[in-house]
Amino acid sequence: MYNVMSPKAEEFISDEEIRSCLEYAQKNSKNEPLIREILQKAKKMKGISHKEAIVLLDCEIEELNQEIYHLAEQIKQEFYGNRIVMFAPLYLSNYCINGCEYCPYHAKNKHISRKKLTQEEVRREVTALQDMGHKRLALEAGEDPVNNPLEYILECIHTIYSIKHKNGAIRRVNVNIAATTVEDYRKLKEAGIGTYILFQETYDKQQYQKLHPTGPKSNYEYHTEAMDRAMDGGIDDVGLGVLFGLNNYRYDFTGIIMHAEHLEAYKGVGPHTISVPRVRRADDIDPDVFDNGISDEIFQKIVACIRIAVPYTGMIVSTRESAKTREKVLHLGISQISGGSRTSVGGYYEEEKEEDNSAQFDVSDRRTLEEVVHWLIDLGYVPSFCTACYREGRTGDRFMQLLKSRQIVNCCHPNALMTLKEFLEDYASPETKAAGEKLIAEELKKIPNEKVRLKAKEYIENIHNGERDFRF
Ligand code: SF4
Ligand code: SF4
Repeated sequence: MYNVMSPKAEEFISDEEIRSCLEYAQKNSKNEPLIREILQKAKKMKGISHKEAIVLLDCEIEELNQEIYHLAEQIKQEFYGNRIVMFAPLYLSNYCINGCEYCPYHAKNKHISRKKLTQEEVRREVTALQDMGHKRLALEAGEDPVNNPLEYILECIHTIYSIKHKNGAIRRVNVNIAATTVEDYRKLKEAGIGTYILFQETYDKQQYQKLHPTGPKSNYEYHTEAMDRAMDGGIDDVGLGVLFGLNNYRYDFTGIIMHAEHLEAYKGVGPHTISVPRVRRADDIDPDVFDNGISDEIFQKIVACIRIAVPYTGMIVSTRESAKTREKVLHLGISQISGGSRTSVGGYYEEEKEEDNSAQFDVSDRRTLEEVVHWLIDLGYVPSFCTACYREGRTGDRFMQLLKSRQIVNCCHPNALMTLKEFLEDYASPETKAAGEKLIAEELKKIPNEKVRLKAKEYIENIHNGERDFRF
């Protein structure tokens, strides 16, 4: 029985409810009055339900599809403006005891080299990332209580925050590790993590069990209820995601919106971010097995409909996607992207030799961070290295309040410009610097509050004179 307030996975992600919504959406895919009514509600920019969202995703009326895209762009503009937050993944260890069929780190794969960074290697990786200009990382590690126990992850976090190289600093460490206990989540919180990220992969229990035949991750309930435990452990920024291509995309789309609704209703705060990865080619993974791959068009529609359904949630796209696809979805709702990513263990300090092969998946967008930054500037976006909310303690509902009150334009925008200025001073080529300076001058004029605008100008001048780390 579906119950958004239930602590049980099978009740807040009810299979019966999802299937009935899918049927309803299919039946109404050409129902113009209904779709218009949903769009009318969505225009208030306060979100729509999972049942309404799947109707929009299934809509087959071309004119209304154009309205859906247009509205997604408007919402993106309203809440996130033209800022794009930058981050990089950092792979700590690819030891894993799970049997996920779509991931080359699965325990039975003997072709890849298994690696785990020592603290010295973490230092080297982080120094290399700081020298690129990164301030925000997402830590990635397989699940292995012997090789990568929680204590190891905590030690890495501590090392990362302690490294100050030239003007570099990692100011926010997000963590993507296996589902764990409330007590462990509390320890992660105490170590100062930003967002706890855990991809559901698929919400379809049957399919989930097929794809995860062995290891602790095979427990669907434990995995699906992890975000509730994370919040019980004091982590109030959590990041959801499904791996599109593992299962019917309509099912997983509905599931992820239901999960967001559950967190908001049951814990009082919706997810901080939603990631939208698609299955990519990887070692020991048979591309023919995953035949649910989605087209670029469907992918764009998913992004647009998530943007409309949960306007307050940040959306992330990684370097799994090509530059071309990333450009398309930036308009429709993406607010964070990775840049200059290496998906192998130790790959930032030293590019991996082909025979080592410790990468989790092939990167599609192989440009450097500097190239991605320049590309964004040319497209009229402001690449942002901002981590202010986390450092000011604006997490969970305090962050959501800021977003909902639409005050973010007086906060995110100056912070984005100041952190971009830092990047231009410390890491950019002369060409990128010239393009970025021009953009900053234009964008400063858009800050509505005069006091904030003048202060931001002053801080930017100070950054030019060598000072760092200003924020609103
Ligand atoms: Fe391990 Fe995660 Fe890969 Fe599964 S997806 S095999 S848990 S690293
Ligand atoms: Fe994100 Fe807060 Fe910075 Fe805005 S001010 S970009 S919400 S960290």
